[in-house]
Amino acid sequence: MARKLEFCIMPPGEFWTNERRPGLVRHEIFFGPFRQKSIRLGLVVFLTPEMHNMGNFSVHNFRGNDLILKRAGQQAAMDYYRWNTQQFINEFGKNYL
Ligand SMILES: [Zn+2]
Repeated sequence: MARKLEFCIMPPGEFWTNERRPGLVRHEIFFGPFRQKSIRLGLVVFLTPEMHNMGNFSVHNFRGNDLILKRAGQQAAMDYYRWNTQQFINEFGKNYL
């Protein structure tokens, strides 16, 4: 089965990776109202189901890990798109750094 290419600007991190592998699920870092923008701008990561929404420390259940990922996402977006903090806020509503 061919791997579906999915645009991702994120570096790998402590509990996520930046490419789809069997058994992983895609997570949009700025989910909610900015979900489609996250996909379009490559602000997605791949997580185990445990770290996505199944476990107590998953990004959808544990705000601390959600924020770790959002901070990394903001940094990656500002680096990749050469945005300053205000430009990031204009796109995603708030500053996580
Ligand atoms: Zn998710």
